[in-house]
Amino acid sequence: MKPDLVTLALSKGRIFEETLPLLKAAGIEVLEDPEKSRKLILPTNRPDVQVVLVRASDVPTYVQYGGADLGVCGKDTLIEHQAEWGGAGGGLYQPLDLHIARCRMSVAVRADFDYASAVRQGSRLTVATKYTAIAREFFSAKGVHVDLIKLYGSMELAPLTGLADAIVDLVSTGNTLKANHLVEVERIMDISSRLVVNQAALKLKRATIKPIIEAFATAAQPA
Ligand code: AMP
Repeated sequence: MKPDLVTLALSKGRIFEETLPLLKAAGIEVLEDPEKSRKLILPTNRPDVQVVLVRASDVPTYVQYGGADLGVCGKDTLIEHQAEWGGAGGGLYQPLDLHIARCRMSVAVRADFDYASAVRQGSRLTVATKYTAIAREFFSAKGVHVDLIKLYGSMELAPLTGLADAIVDLVSTGNTLKANHLVEVERIMDISSRLVVNQAALKLKRATIKPIIEAFATAAQPA
């Protein structure tokens, strides 16, 4: 990778869309629309800045190993990544809450499942989730015994098919839960996206990276 080129890792969809105004505040405009182009490396109006499109859960990995210098990913993704790395997060510097892609991590069950009684009686719960580290920590702190089932998508289906008693998933409007006759019974934490930076890149490419971090910090406003 060219030493004078700064690479920012983003995931398509909400994070990409909501990062665009922050980039604009830093004087950076992405020159191609990822929804129309199949390119994974997108040029910007700045010859020294490019954007790479990766899966949301791969953003911390790209930044940690220096495949990207900067990245934007959800707090959920970061916690799960750090848990995989024994809490170390290896070489990732997390300087900023961008207050974008806001949602919450919650526990949901079928509307006819009495979660409160199950917890009160000390029942063992089967919980399906993509976010096993967050779920494990939450239920352990609550003193609830759980069997975790790792899923990679469509968590809402798990209680409906009898695969699990509960799910731990991101909730934004609540429409997905409602459409699947699920109810939110616990709010685990509020989630928003963070700017993460490769520590070595921050030292080596400070002249380019520091103004980007500062512009993001000024533009990122809590709603
Ligand atoms: P909603 O119906 O608006 O509550 O959105 C819930 C669905 O969107 C679930 O499938 C979530 O996994 C997903 N979701 C909501 N917010 C986010 C987010 N900020 N990042 C990624 N996925 C999200």
